Amino acid sequence: MAQDTQDEPTTDTAWKSIYRGTYPRINDLVHTKLSVKFDYPKQWMYGEEWLTLQPHFYPTDSLMLDAKGMQINEIALINGKSKTPLKYSYDSMQLRIRLNKTYKKDEKYTLYLNYISKPNELKLPGSAAITDAKGLYFINPLGDTDEHQEIWTQGETESNSAWFPTIDKPDQKTTQEILMTVPAKNVTLSNGLLVSQQKNADGTRTDYWKMDLPNSPYLFFMGVGDYAVVKDKYKNMEVNYYVEKEYAPVARKIFGETPAMIDYFSKLLKFPYVWPKYDQIVGREYVSGAMENTTATLHQDGAYQNARQLVDGNVWEDDISHELFHHWFGDLVTCESWSNLTLNESFANYSEYLWREYRYGKDDADAKNFKDMQDYLLSGSDDKNLVRFYYRDKEDVFDAVSYNKGGRILHMLRNYVGDSAFFTALNEYLNRYKFKPAEAQQLRLVFEDVTGQDLNWFWNQWYYGSGQPILDINYDYANGKERIIVNQVQSSGKIFKLPTSIDVYTSGANKKRYKVWLQNPSDTFYFSSAQKPSLVNIDADKVLLCEKNDHKSTDEFEQQYKYAGNYLDRREALEYFAKNKLSNVALGLDDKYWGLRLLTLQFLEQSKGYSIPSVLSVIEKMATADPSKKVQAKAIEMLAKMNSQKYLPVFEKYVNDSSYSVAGASLEGLAMLEPAKAYTLAKKYSSDALGKLGAVVASAFYKNGAEEDFKFLLNYYSNQPASQDKIISSVAFGNYLASLKNADDVRKGVDEIMKFRNQIPAQYHSYIDPTFKNAFSKISQRQRANGNADLAAYIDGLLK
Ligand SMILES: [Zn+2]
Repeated sequence: MAQDTQDEPTTDTAWKSIYRGTYPRINDLVHTKLSVKFDYPKQWMYGEEWLTLQPHFYPTDSLMLDAKGMQINEIALINGKSKTPLKYSYDSMQLRIRLNKTYKKDEKYTLYLNYISKPNELKLPGSAAITDAKGLYFINPLGDTDEHQEIWTQGETESNSAWFPTIDKPDQKTTQEILMTVPAKNVTLSNGLLVSQQKNADGTRTDYWKMDLPNSPYLFFMGVGDYAVVKDKYKNMEVNYYVEKEYAPVARKIFGETPAMIDYFSKLLKFPYVWPKYDQIVGREYVSGAMENTTATLHQDGAYQNARQLVDGNVWEDDISHELFHHWFGDLVTCESWSNLTLNESFANYSEYLWREYRYGKDDADAKNFKDMQDYLLSGSDDKNLVRFYYRDKEDVFDAVSYNKGGRILHMLRNYVGDSAFFTALNEYLNRYKFKPAEAQQLRLVFEDVTGQDLNWFWNQWYYGSGQPILDINYDYANGKERIIVNQVQSSGKIFKLPTSIDVYTSGANKKRYKVWLQNPSDTFYFSSAQKPSLVNIDADKVLLCEKNDHKSTDEFEQQYKYAGNYLDRREALEYFAKNKLSNVALGLDDKYWGLRLLTLQFLEQSKGYSIPSVLSVIEKMATADPSKKVQAKAIEMLAKMNSQKYLPVFEKYVNDSSYSVAGASLEGLAMLEPAKAYTLAKKYSSDALGKLGAVVASAFYKNGAEEDFKFLLNYYSNQPASQDKIISSVAFGNYLASLKNADDVRKGVDEIMKFRNQIPAQYHSYIDPTFKNAFSKISQRQRANGNADLAAYIDGLLK
């Protein structure tokens, strides 16, 4: 799953003594057959299930199934063509079924279950109805709003048992068949292949989906809606994209790298994509980022981008590679428990690195590596083990440790054992555990078998331990010897064992590499050198998961920028120059990687140090000729701030650019030069304005406060992804609403703000509600003054 969860503050600590081990396997799932139809007005699903199981090892006469919030109509044992009713008890979460006899290992039996799934009435014991674990979601079920009408499901972690009784644990695997009866105008999607379609007399159609390879219940999926199915191919296998019809023309621009990704990952792992097809679908109001349902990945609507947005880069490509890679790590070999989730998520996270490295080069992959590491370090998770046997809630392990830190640990492991051993071990792991569950120790044993090395120290430190080192690095030179002292200064006091490389440079790019281990509170190394080295570069491959105080001089950082070569080498140097307000930062304007040119522009903008003629002339060139749209847009944005007529031709030319970033920056430039025309210009470009262009238009509209711009602003606001920025935007939108007379529009706008507010997890409400209340009270005062007492009262009542 693509990550979208945050820790909740909690005072309950009882969980700290609850060990979350492997789920016992008493009965094993073998085959699951479902026949379902949907009741849209009630948001129910009528289900019939034929479930085949067998005892795992010990004989048993009973069976426990997860079945959340259902109405159970019938449970029987199938004997050939006849049915024998079975006794059971049900507490709205689990079914305890008494079988007709004791079954032995490998003795299969099949149950028939008739039930109604009622996801909106699902309640956890003693709590309110839940919204994020319903399993089955009806979007716009009555068709009474503009939203796309859909049904989709979300299983991970254990929510699919809200729509079919099963053993809802990741160490179970089952083949499956699903018959879905839906209104004939809709298409359906599920796991495996669409075998047949049958038109029914009542205007419905029954689609029959079949999956012959075993997979875990949390990976089962159903999707229903009036989608366009855009066809693509990998070799002879279907690779389809299910999108709303208006996105059909761009679907291959959004998802079109998928076949190349399947090809690359198959070759890299020397292990083919085993499943019969690969489909991707986009769901509205989807509660997470994306989900790797076997052969039927669900993405949230952040995946939808139009052709102009894609000019600025596909923001969804990491998610596309992430969910695809799960089809090896997660769907094929599955974490045996949520404690071992990182066996799914660290690999999926790391696939984003692998794909970028292959497709866009090592700098681009390293930029992602750095960002993911920063996000982990900022998450304050120093006390959490990668494999976590103690957690409050299973959802808590979907965090920056299992994902980001896990990915960085794999990157270190790859660097330590070497590419050949790393990918050989992954291949061996897939071969050994395909269609089975696995735990982190099994990954270790595979790496030990392949490399012939003991790796307990690595697993104990990184998989079964927490935190990371903080390195304090000092250098001096005397009597023909360079001395390097590396201290581990982390407050935990825990000392890390870190194999690393030190490159010692004599002049320019001439260097000698030394392999060393950091493993003491303080490690000192001496290197003979006839002259003082021009640069000493520790962690020369820039792979360590750590924080650093590196006491280098400006000259040494300049050498590092010029000769050390890695993205992080250059980035560290630029950060040092920027922090110390050194003009050397301008070196980054010519960097070969766009991300570092952009970073350099941001540094220059912060220091306001870019009006120096030599720097400005480079920025002027970037504003018209940089190959990256993001860099070009930033350069234009900086020229806009110069407020000089000299740049009018640049703004006039690029305001029509296909990139929203470039066009938006140019419009900003034009508006700065002619503030009186800002609103007219915004109007002119508002018919197709998203991203930066949308923000510039919206800002002019907010200021102007015209009633007629409501439609644009409502649309702009509602399409803004939920984020910190959107909270700020809510205030601007609220101020605008306070200036309006049209009561219908005001109500629509207020409802849209509330919709966003309700998407924010409840634990943050006390923190953000004052901002919303303040905005609402301005609006209601104005409405009261206009004689709309009812509307004013409605608004005042919203956040009581
Ligand atoms: Zn994932």
